[in-house]
Amino acid sequence: MSALNPTRRQVSFLMGSAVTLTTILPSPVALATARHKAHGHAGKKAPAVIGNASPPKPVIMLDPGHGGKDPGAIGVSGTYEKHIAAAAAKELYRQIKVAGRYDVVMTRADDHFIPLEGRVDLAHRHKAQLFISMHADALHDPGVRGASVYTLSNGASDAQTASLAQTENSADRFAGPAFHGMSSEVQDILASLVHEETRRGSAHMAASVVSAFQPRIGLLRHPARHAAFVVLKSADIPSVLVEMGFMSNRHDEASLRQGAYRQQVASAMSAAIDRYFQGAGTNIARSG
Ligand code: ZN
Repeated sequence: MSALNPTRRQVSFLMGSAVTLTTILPSPVALATARHKAHGHAGKKAPAVIGNASPPKPVIMLDPGHGGKDPGAIGVSGTYEKHIAAAAAKELYRQIKVAGRYDVVMTRADDHFIPLEGRVDLAHRHKAQLFISMHADALHDPGVRGASVYTLSNGASDAQTASLAQTENSADRFAGPAFHGMSSEVQDILASLVHEETRRGSAHMAASVVSAFQPRIGLLRHPARHAAFVVLKSADIPSVLVEMGFMSNRHDEASLRQGAYRQQVASAMSAAIDRYFQGAGTNIARSG
């Protein structure tokens, strides 16, 4: 199973996308289009080109954290993170569908367990151009509250984020013994394979989330952070993990239990997605 063999999977994926590796592309949209073509021509015969068919909409993969036997963090009043993550992701899914500018897929629409590698695989299978993992984890300090956004890197931006990544990555303990063997060296190698363009796209999305949240959703201090999150390790899909708040804080937990608050979070996320893809458009105009 390829999900059990991340290194080989990652390397073959990189080799498969030689076009994107050797070409400097100006924007996530251009990258996405090139990738779409590359995927479309791989393996089977390309379909006939139809007249003035509009280009395919960018595909966004929403990933509600945890699920099934993995409850995620358990809030101060007993709320499960997996339920909050799913409810918020469903609301965002609904808003994206209504707006109609993107195609949107979810790694899980119901309450079942998916290993972290499986989530990345799903994003590749659906040819996603943006991967957003949604969480509301717990920290040791119950006083810490506010939303934050995480991107992949070898080293963590701070001790709190390092421990968060460790907890998050340990979600795979629910998957059984096959997932226990990933050493930190392997994780480092995976992280170092991440293409520079993908890293830049992820950083762009993280910045978009922070600026969209700023006026309406409380943010953690230094809200854009990074660490070695396994679920963010796609080599060619810009990926972010959004902590909508912390279940360890009673105010955050109470807010996230409310549909109206999750609606606000989702609408800020929608704005961030627009900003991300519009930023891409601006780059094209400037460089072209
Ligand atoms: Zn989580």
